[in-house]
Amino acid sequence: MSRRANQSVRLLRDLHKNGRKGMMIPEGGLENRPASELLPAEFLRDGEPSLPHISEVDTVRHFVNLSNLNYGVDNGFYPLGSCTMKYNPKINDEVAALFQDIHPALPDVYVQPLLGLLYELQQDLLEITGMDAITLQPAAGAHGELTSLLMAKAYFKDNGLTHKDTVIIPDSAHGTNPASATMAGFHVFTVKSDEEGLVDMDALSSMVNEHTAVLMLTNPNTLGKFEKNILQISQLIHNVGGLMYCDGANLNGILGWARPGDMGFDFAHLNLHKTFSTPHGGGGPGSGPVAVKKHIEPYLPKPVLVRDGVGFRWDLDRLKSIGKMRSNFGNILVALRALAYIKSLGGAGLREAGTMAVLNANYMRVSMEDVLPTAYPGMCKHEFVATAEDIKKNYGVKAQDIAKALLDKGFHAPTMYFPLIVKEALMIEPTETETKDTLDAFIDAIRDIVDECKEDPKTVEEAPHYTPVRRLDEVKASKELKVRW
Ligand SMILES: *Cc1c(COP(=O)(O)O)cnc(C)c1O
Repeated sequence: MSRRANQSVRLLRDLHKNGRKGMMIPEGGLENRPASELLPAEFLRDGEPSLPHISEVDTVRHFVNLSNLNYGVDNGFYPLGSCTMKYNPKINDEVAALFQDIHPALPDVYVQPLLGLLYELQQDLLEITGMDAITLQPAAGAHGELTSLLMAKAYFKDNGLTHKDTVIIPDSAHGTNPASATMAGFHVFTVKSDEEGLVDMDALSSMVNEHTAVLMLTNPNTLGKFEKNILQISQLIHNVGGLMYCDGANLNGILGWARPGDMGFDFAHLNLHKTFSTPHGGGGPGSGPVAVKKHIEPYLPKPVLVRDGVGFRWDLDRLKSIGKMRSNFGNILVALRALAYIKSLGGAGLREAGTMAVLNANYMRVSMEDVLPTAYPGMCKHEFVATAEDIKKNYGVKAQDIAKALLDKGFHAPTMYFPLIVKEALMIEPTETETKDTLDAFIDAIRDIVDECKEDPKTVEEAPHYTPVRRLDEVKASKELKVRW
């Protein structure tokens, strides 16, 4: 980690030296003939483009060195809660690469094998979620949420229930939930969590009425807790004609064990780039398929992939569809990675992945409980949320300082200050792909840092010390986004 400590980052422009070249063309080649002989006058530039002059080797080193400053799952442990940063087997990339040159406008008849694979993925995801119909179009989890809420809107309109205009969301939910509901034109109400970190049943009962359109629920929730009253909750919402939406981004903790369709959900979005092992982070391509029950099927975004005799085709003839949510057919290469992952693990393997994810999270939770307690104690699923509230009270060191100190020890930080209901939150999700050695090394690092909080809090407060750049002003970075030099 300290290998590249404080290395200054140079731009390509800084490497410029007049006359340097990235390539040489042999004597007598194009170089010796003026461009005016080769191109019509109207295509000629007035002068040289303003590009730096750099040798090939310096260009390669520039980009390789930049990439070495990055941190990813392939470098080390990445326990970023709610993001399911599992190791992504490379065979998934190879499978996706087989199809990367297929043009999306090719007629269905030329791409039957590809459509067959996508259809098979749809069938597998329906089995995994316990639902009836599905779209692979949405490009991310949040996009799946919006897609679902637009479908809910269409469903209510179609059934003459336009007074259904409110969406209920727990206070532990991911911020995308209220954002998506607002974008879809619903009023949002927040239901509080009880002392166990679950939906407060009394509070929910008192909020539900004929205006209730949708309850958006994450199960297991962002505290890693399984909503044990889920059947009762679904009943409550269905009794007033409302719909149940499952934010299934956290499926990893129940994979192969429990299905949203069996819990009474009418919609469930999945994050293929989390549970189903596609590399993600930094805004790269994702995929947030939405699986629905039969009564929502007519509203799926079009085109819908259907089986037609022995073949497959995109069906555009969907009168009640909410329309298109994504160009072409979605992020198909992400879908193919997910299919490769599902097929290489098989049903039993997927179930085992879920089991190990839960075992790893609980092992870590219990192993650090005495120095960094869990906000809502007891068994968790895929993740747990620790609180540094006492550490802050006693030594002045904040959750963020602990997260930064972890960087110096070679780990990615956990998710910080989320969910909002936990003070000084550190949300830790190890996933199933880590060895016990790695988990132990992280636990030791946490113990060392907590010791340091007592003995030398200032050093922790000033962390990180050994990373390429020291502590950044994250608030300024997000409020004054500057993407040009
Ligand atoms: C990641 C996540 C989302 C959003 O998914 P994106 O693909 O980032 O849009 C929504 N809800 C939960 C619980 C998540 O963890």
